[in-house]
Amino acid sequence: MRQVAFIKRSDGGHWVGDGFPVRTIFSYNDIAGEVSPFLLLDYAGPHHFEPTTQKRGVGAHPHRGFETVTIVYEGAVSHRDSAGGGGTIGAGDVQWMTAGAGVIHEEFHSEDFARRGGDFEMVQLWVNLPAKDKMTGARYQSIADAQIPRVSLPGEAGTARLIAGEYDGTRGAAETFSELNVWDLRLRAGKTVLLALPPTHTASLFVLRGAVQVGEKRVAAAELAVFENSDAQLQFQTTDDTLAVLLSGEPLNEPIAAHGPFVMNSREELLQAMRDYQSGQFGRIPQ
Ligand code: MN
Repeated sequence: MRQVAFIKRSDGGHWVGDGFPVRTIFSYNDIAGEVSPFLLLDYAGPHHFEPTTQKRGVGAHPHRGFETVTIVYEGAVSHRDSAGGGGTIGAGDVQWMTAGAGVIHEEFHSEDFARRGGDFEMVQLWVNLPAKDKMTGARYQSIADAQIPRVSLPGEAGTARLIAGEYDGTRGAAETFSELNVWDLRLRAGKTVLLALPPTHTASLFVLRGAVQVGEKRVAAAELAVFENSDAQLQFQTTDDTLAVLLSGEPLNEPIAAHGPFVMNSREELLQAMRDYQSGQFGRIPQ
């Protein structure tokens, strides 16, 4: 079976705007090479918000060169962007936004959720684009829970919601630019989970709730297990009812030049991104 290479966790939280209490589990500053094409995983919450009439979240900001994938577990998020995309996603829904050549967007708690208050929990992934696709047009895929294919795992271990990729011939919901899997796993306690992944894929497992045992290593809530590349299956035991996200993908093997919300391949492209943003070429959010 694939062995755990290492376990990654956040060493402290921070707030993104006033809406997202985030633990950055990994970013392009640390292990993006090991988990390519994934660049970042921010885990927001779980956090209880009191009702408010204020707008909580993060205002207009740019991205270029990658995709942001927002998976909502509790609460609701509203988004608007300069490419005309927008909408509200709630528990179980996913927003797959391709920043490509450039987008400006805002991310807030939905007005309704803010007014009601309640528990909030969300994962945001940044997925790198291959060099040839970094300047593609911006795109917004709003994927409702009901559109996400579900498959049963062997041995009554639980179910996988296929947000992206392919499991045993069933295609995931999102269109992607490179070969990758994002599976939301809802697992029962005391089960052995076996997942067949292409041997060339990087693979990691982020546990939101519960815990799993991989060989000698225990992976607890808010921890990411990064697996060694091998042609063996990924195998682990659930010690509790577990909610987890499996990430795997064909590594891009391209240089990363990143700063803040821009992820390019060279320093020159990075500086160009900043100039293009500052000169207004990313457009604006329609009023
Ligand atoms: Mn953003």
